[in-house]
Amino acid sequence: MTSQTPGFSTRAIHAGQEPDPTTGAVVPPIHQVSTYKQDGVGGLRGGYEYSRSANPTRTALEECIAALEGGERGFAFASGLAGEDAVLRALLRPGDHVVVPSDAYGGTYRLFTQVVEPWGVGHSVAAVADVDSVRAAIRPETRLVWVETPTNPLLGVADIAAIAEVTHAAGALLVVDNTFASPYLQSPIALGADVVVHSTTKYCGGHSDVVGGAVVVAPGVTTHGGASAAERIAFYQNAMGAVAGPFDAWLVLRGLKTLAVRMERHCDNAEAVVEMLRAHPGVTAVHYPGLPDHPGHEVAARQMRRFGGMVSFRVRGGEDVAAKVCGETQVWILGESLGGVESLIEHPARMTHASVAGTELEVPGDLVRLSVGIEDVDDLVEDLRTVLDRLT
Ligand SMILES: *Cc1c(COP(=O)(O)O)cnc(C)c1O
Repeated sequence: MTSQTPGFSTRAIHAGQEPDPTTGAVVPPIHQVSTYKQDGVGGLRGGYEYSRSANPTRTALEECIAALEGGERGFAFASGLAGEDAVLRALLRPGDHVVVPSDAYGGTYRLFTQVVEPWGVGHSVAAVADVDSVRAAIRPETRLVWVETPTNPLLGVADIAAIAEVTHAAGALLVVDNTFASPYLQSPIALGADVVVHSTTKYCGGHSDVVGGAVVVAPGVTTHGGASAAERIAFYQNAMGAVAGPFDAWLVLRGLKTLAVRMERHCDNAEAVVEMLRAHPGVTAVHYPGLPDHPGHEVAARQMRRFGGMVSFRVRGGEDVAAKVCGETQVWILGESLGGVESLIEHPARMTHASVAGTELEVPGDLVRLSVGIEDVDDLVEDLRTVLDRLT
């Protein structure tokens, strides 16, 4: 690459992806292989020994995502939750405590409460959009503060730099789930985060054809006893084995190449959909950090390049109307997940967030969540407006 620091898309297209030395292939091959010929015992070519430990296609993805997040080292996993699990096991010990966001991704919350907690790690819940709430949730044994921003599904915004300060003052590490923003819109490490996690299933992959996760560690982060956090996570990745397979790694790597152009279009389309929703009499609230009256707007404007493709809104008429709206669109597909090229609509209370009903993370029943895709925006606006006109 050139001597100046390459821009985002140059890194997305080239980092970790030198043309193949034997053939010149411009795209890293899918190394669909489990083991590697050794040149004499222990004579590894390029360090490859067995594909759980390392595989060249996965290495390409790991180097690329680390370059995009500005980290020291990246790791690719079989899913976002597999990556989160590795982070928690690598950085926590029984007796430790974590601070969890009040509207965390449901699966993340389940990991904390049903997997990590029985293992002896306590948690308390903080409204991460409010730094004082995070400060109040921190205890002497707090080792990790976990932040998602924007949050799911209410699009709350956490001030990463301010929370990093509070976290570090308490001697803890800050983990940011950057799935909703993507590495293109937000760079948590530059704002003080120690670890970034992604469900690459979402915007990084971007085409709803792969489940994957990534973890990126900031330079020089240490954990219990001064151990390198990156080394600990590398150890757990290999020891637990929930790695991304070669084809999955290749799909995410391909997705990353177009991340910048896709995100621009997701944002353009989301802005137009938000404008229609704001004007619609059947919509009682619209949650989008790009709106000047959104409580996190100023922070989002400071720490994000644009405001993203996720939108949620509440409808007049309550839970049944919201559920019905989700079921009657033609272009918007009723489904869980997010971040793909196709627009998705869902009812959090009965779908993605059904598992947190009755907890501190419960979401309003009249809420609808949109993952705005990159189709022609007029089709998206018209489809949704028609259904809202009819049902609200
Ligand atoms: C989907 C998602 C996850 C979990 O990732 P998987 O790939 O489904 O395991 C974690 N955090 C957020 C914000 C997500 O949207």
